[in-house]
Amino acid sequence: MLHNSAGDLIRATPERGSATIARMAVADHEAVPAVAADEAPRSGTVVMKFGGTSVAGPERLKNVARRLVDARDEGNRVVGVLSAMGDTTDDLIDLARQVSDAPRPRELDMLISVGERISCALAAMAIHDLGHEAISLTGSQAGIVTDTSHTKAKIVEVRARRIHEALDDGRIVLVAGFQGVSTSYEVTTLGRGGSDTTAVALAAALGADGCEIYTDVDGVFTADPRIVPGARKLHAVSYDEMLELAAGGARVLQIRSVEFARNHGVRLHVRSTFGDAAGTWITQEDERMLEKAIISGVTHTTEETVFRVEGVGVARLFAELADAQVNVDTILQSGEGIVFSAPAGDRPAAERALSGLGAEWSARDDLGKVSLVGAGMRSHPGIAAKAFATLDELGIVPEIVTTSPIKIACYVGLDDVERAVRALHDAFELERPEAERAHA
Ligand code: ASP
Ligand code: MG
Repeated sequence: MLHNSAGDLIRATPERGSATIARMAVADHEAVPAVAADEAPRSGTVVMKFGGTSVAGPERLKNVARRLVDARDEGNRVVGVLSAMGDTTDDLIDLARQVSDAPRPRELDMLISVGERISCALAAMAIHDLGHEAISLTGSQAGIVTDTSHTKAKIVEVRARRIHEALDDGRIVLVAGFQGVSTSYEVTTLGRGGSDTTAVALAAALGADGCEIYTDVDGVFTADPRIVPGARKLHAVSYDEMLELAAGGARVLQIRSVEFARNHGVRLHVRSTFGDAAGTWITQEDERMLEKAIISGVTHTTEETVFRVEGVGVARLFAELADAQVNVDTILQSGEGIVFSAPAGDRPAAERALSGLGAEWSARDDLGKVSLVGAGMRSHPGIAAKAFATLDELGIVPEIVTTSPIKIACYVGLDDVERAVRALHDAFELERPEAERAHA
């Protein structure tokens, strides 16, 4: 699965090590299948998703139950989508590895889909004790139909009848996130962070008024606050900005959930589970947004591997990588070679695919990616110049540069990543309130 369309990004400099610039489409991720809701939407439906930290123990689960009940008391039809408690998914994967070196994906899915079911059953019990009706459902019971790709399945259809019936009966419906049933009747999971996608798919299928993503951070920030203490919470970002931020390393949402939200026009609200403050809205770009600050944020990731391949054509190379389920991000082709990046976790699969091709290749994991993202960039010249000048002052020479109309991403040495993030955040005055910054 290529993250970016390979069409318009083929340009690069010949020598290794020098900055290579290519133009890419806005994170043009693969198409998302239409959601086939088999029931007409009803108004007043809200989908509320709670992440692993939000349900990490009995007290927290009781708080989640209370929030769901409050939403019900306000007159909403309430669907809760829950993640597994705390580190449950990691622990289950760990357990599998202790039993087997290479567990089969089908059995892995049987195992790791359990975590979300635990959360939902417990939340239903807590809701009952608050005097309300609730029912927990597995992904399969909730009608979430996926393709057959175990551990990375994609939702192909949502058959929402059972959820609608339970909602019609006045119940709060708890759906186990991260999972579904495949077209060949197997239990599947949607990839790490997949509960976000469950929530958005349900919001789309049910015609919900919105999808609230409750998490352990206050929203989407201008940079990772652990690296930039002055980072600010953003009031709103567009779907495209959020896609770029997520592709650049912001971990707050699974990328696929944002694609889904964009394609179905689902408004997302990312907010803290531990307070009532408003978080960050992720919506269609509107006039007001276009007038806001040029840059929304600086993200980074240190978990990508950069590959250089020679002696094989692009078509064949990326067909093989797609077959091996490698999520390719940046792609550059120069006269003598092809450079691409992929998540560090996909490295073994990528290496197997490359070895099978008999091509000459090398892999680097000493680079990190720093991305500057902002919708205002489109209409505002000089952003790239300022970004490069900022890095230059630090003596940082990017190894690879890729851009989209709303993003500039630089691959720099791992040791330079944090310095680069801080300097760019500073240079574009992201610590100041949006209203006081330069506007597009
Ligand atoms: N529990 C799964 C994970 O840890 C899915 C999720 O939380 O969204 O990846
Ligand atoms: Mg998550």
